[in-house]
Amino acid sequence: MRLRVVYTGGTVGMIETPRGLAPGADLRGWLAEVLAGTDLADGTGVTSLDPLVDSSNTTPLFWQRIVDVVHDAREEGERPDGFVVLHGTDTMAYTSAALSYALTELGLPVVLTGSQRPLGAPGSDAAPNVIGALRAASAGRFSSVAVFFAHTLLDGPRVTKISSWDLRAFDSPNVPALAHEGSPWQWTGRPAGGEGWTNPRPYRRCDVAVVSVAPGITAERLAAMLTPLPEAVVIRAFGIGNIPSEEPGVLEVLRSTVRAGVPVLIASQCYQSDVAPGRYAAGYELAAAGAVGVRDMTLEAAYAKVCFLLSQGLGGPDVAAWIGRNIAGELTG
Ligand code: ASP
Repeated sequence: MRLRVVYTGGTVGMIETPRGLAPGADLRGWLAEVLAGTDLADGTGVTSLDPLVDSSNTTPLFWQRIVDVVHDAREEGERPDGFVVLHGTDTMAYTSAALSYALTELGLPVVLTGSQRPLGAPGSDAAPNVIGALRAASAGRFSSVAVFFAHTLLDGPRVTKISSWDLRAFDSPNVPALAHEGSPWQWTGRPAGGEGWTNPRPYRRCDVAVVSVAPGITAERLAAMLTPLPEAVVIRAFGIGNIPSEEPGVLEVLRSTVRAGVPVLIASQCYQSDVAPGRYAAGYELAAAGAVGVRDMTLEAAYAKVCFLLSQGLGGPDVAAWIGRNIAGELTG
């Protein structure tokens, strides 16, 4: 079994510096020690991105670099059987969704992991997470993107970060976990998959505004947040997809955004959600104006999906039309 570890940065390989945690640990040496004497030692190689980053600094171009490393490893004769991407936790859920869309044709497991404590810290979760991710990638049970964290394997396009401190930092609120590590592992779910995408174009930087509504938001503030007009808008609405529809001018700002050809997506501020914006009068007019609910996609999956669709050269109505279609299992079909 040949596995390729793609090390991108994150707490897992960070050290204390005078300016806070930053990449600097000898991850390659540490991994060799951790794997020494196990069946994973021989077939596991490491590619490090340069520079290594705190995942707060990732962009769609960074997602593309990971996609490129995966494709290069396949084409350069090494032919890995699976990939493990070591990544910071802060935006891991965005990257796992982004990779899910871009790699539907790969046909190999890609497992993202990282840790809440650096590899050198006492009680670090680095070793169990990395070993578990390697075990998941070599299990022969799935051939899509997943996240392994805290003994649990989650479907890549369905993941969200739920804690900045708990070692159980991720969940997939709308679908069951794929597996729980144990002796033996319990395989509890299957990645749903989707229509896939043939020969996707590379990710590019996209101007997508994510706007949270809050009680008391004014039309002026909303309009200012959408000026200049972005390429797409994701509204983080209340509950099932409601907005302050009686606040003077708010609906008009969003209507005119849709009229300008900008896709307006409605996501939820809830941890667990299935957005249906026409259900209440407070969301009805928005849906009637052409805004599209993201159903049970996470915010991360919705954001990465818009970036993916814009990167494919799709315009407003086509982006909106694809939101309800399943590319990689990001929503319940
Ligand atoms: N800021 C870090 C990162 O996302 C947090 C982590 O890795 O846990 O890179």
